[in-house]
Amino acid sequence: MGKEGLMGKLEEKIRNCRKCPLWELRTKPVPGAGSYDAKVMFVGEAPGYWEDQKGLPFVGRAGKVLDELLAEINLSREEVYITNIVKCRPPNNRDPTEEEVRACSPYLDRQIDIIRPKVIVPLGRHSMGYILEKFGFEPEPISKIHGKTFEAHTLFGKIVIMPTYHPAAALYKPPIRKELEKDFRKLGELLKEFG
Ligand code: URA
Ligand code: SF4
Repeated sequence: MGKEGLMGKLEEKIRNCRKCPLWELRTKPVPGAGSYDAKVMFVGEAPGYWEDQKGLPFVGRAGKVLDELLAEINLSREEVYITNIVKCRPPNNRDPTEEEVRACSPYLDRQIDIIRPKVIVPLGRHSMGYILEKFGFEPEPISKIHGKTFEAHTLFGKIVIMPTYHPAAALYKPPIRKELEKDFRKLGELLKEFG
């Protein structure tokens, strides 16, 4: 089965999922969006208000920042893949619990296996922690680790991991915006290596 078929089946599973208590409160689950052939995959934390309304990732204020950062390195949403660790919105945008992350993260793992990205960009502390641990690296404070690259070796080849800040951080801490821009420029350079 091709990527379309595999992702279709996975998205169907997510839409019907009741593996953790977040299913009861969701309006729409947010599996992820973008190209299944994307070279770069962005991983946020969990859907917020607008994402839950629309069933799409990063469509609120943080999403606007993400769009601007992508535009600065000439990337469109259509050529990347964007998802979250947890696919349903936690109440009042609280952090997902460990139990929720444990229940939901196999979907993200499967998305990585299907898409086989060359680069994964965890957005923010929670995503950075999950992704680095998954590939056997030690998480560090996001202020220290953002923009650094890690090479993971998988059955389907090398994946470069480059954590950065969550785009929402730029909204309440304006200096973070510059750091995000710097990290995205680095990402732009990195992607040139992969054609
Ligand atoms: N914040 C996230 O982490 N993910 C979204 O999809 C939106 C906001
Ligand atoms: Fe299922 Fe994930 Fe939604 Fe929990 S958050 S119900 S595990 S899709």
